Amino acid sequence: MVEIEVASSRGRHVAIVGAGVIGLSCALEIRRRGFEVTVVEQGTRAGEATWAAAGVVAPHHYGATPGPLYELLRRSHALYPAFVQSLSRRSLDWHENGTMAIARTKAEAEELEARVHWLNHAGYSAQLLTRSTLSELEPLCDGAFESAAFFAGDAHVDPRLLGLALKETVLQEGVQICFGALVERIETMGSAVSGLSLSGADHILPAEAVVLAAGAWSAGLAPGFRLPVRPAKGQMCAVKTGGLRRPVQYPEGVMIPRTGDLMAVGATVEDVGFDLRINPDAISEVRAAAAGVVSVVADAEIVETWLGFRPRTADGFPVVGQSVVDGLVVSTGHDTKGIALAPVTAKLVADLVCDRHVDPLLTPFSPERFS
Ligand SMILES: Cc1cc2nc3c(=O)[nH]c(=O)nc-3n(C[C@H](O)[C@H](O)[C@H](O)COP(=O)(O)OP(=O)(O)OC[C@H]3O[C@@H](n4cnc5c(N)ncnc54)[C@H](O)[C@@H]3O)c2cc1C
Repeated sequence: MVEIEVASSRGRHVAIVGAGVIGLSCALEIRRRGFEVTVVEQGTRAGEATWAAAGVVAPHHYGATPGPLYELLRRSHALYPAFVQSLSRRSLDWHENGTMAIARTKAEAEELEARVHWLNHAGYSAQLLTRSTLSELEPLCDGAFESAAFFAGDAHVDPRLLGLALKETVLQEGVQICFGALVERIETMGSAVSGLSLSGADHILPAEAVVLAAGAWSAGLAPGFRLPVRPAKGQMCAVKTGGLRRPVQYPEGVMIPRTGDLMAVGATVEDVGFDLRINPDAISEVRAAAAGVVSVVADAEIVETWLGFRPRTADGFPVVGQSVVDGLVVSTGHDTKGIALAPVTAKLVADLVCDRHVDPLLTPFSPERFS
């Protein structure tokens, strides 16, 4: 039997579905504005995609082009240092030392050079590199390349440590987290949200507001409206190789340094539903692509493999905003960018939940675009 109590009846109670980076960041921001918050999580750890992510924090990666998504990423990027500072745990493996991108074909080089151009135009530092400047910045990069670039303002974090830090911080600040509790339904009364039905609980968890942040599992929980979010499976591995200084991106994936002389290498992007199998051939391909950029990866020992499900929408935009159900705010669909987008998502969701303020930045990301 799941036992859940609302911590206090004095404040307005907000229930959040999902304890990933999005749910926990929203919980923290809403709690800091004086609300009672309960997070309900079916699993036992802080997030699913969150736990599996690489951890690049960059406003231009994974296909972002000039426009609303870049603006959202840019705003989040600006909030990140203060966001990290505000967490109780200090060791997040957070580094503000830039990222590299490698292009190996002429077409990739054209795309990369265009990206450098528009980023500079937008006032974001981006620099094309020669072989010698690339070697100086990232001595491990020894593969052939057509073009390479350095983005000095980018950062990276260990998403597992970030999830842990968020969990610890929200608990310290008075958020209740119910792990191992499956939300079966978001309950409504008339046109407004009224709470959550949990598997095995004998009563509804009442809430004046609900934030749906269930990642790739969000679609089935939308009460009476369309929320087309589906899983995009990503497989990664960690190899025993030190020496990489910062994330290196290439068209097939990314390498990212981790403490303990490790490097995380990924990732596949697969439209195969919630398939929980690790495919050794896919891992070999991921490693081979990385070895084309950093040759030592070819023979490095694989010490871990894992997978996660990115919450993906058809238009590649997250879904953040008030739904047609009064008091139900949707915050999902962050796809390949949820780690990077967490701080701005938390702020804009808290504006909605606590102040009913809709930032115009959110207009293109509204859940209403699917209705
Ligand atoms: C391989 C890989 C690499 C990535 N690399 C990066 C990167 O470098 N940079 C970046 O910015 N992003 C990256 N991402 C994307 C990022 O991880 C996601 O966008 C982000 O973690 C989404 O966070 P979330 O909280 O929405 O989802 P999740 O972390 O999946 O959390 C959702 C939570 O909701 C819970 N839940 C679902 N249904 C229910 C229910 N019915 N009841 C209770 N709980 C429920 C789940 O158990 C889960 O814990 C990567 C993702 C993958 C898979």
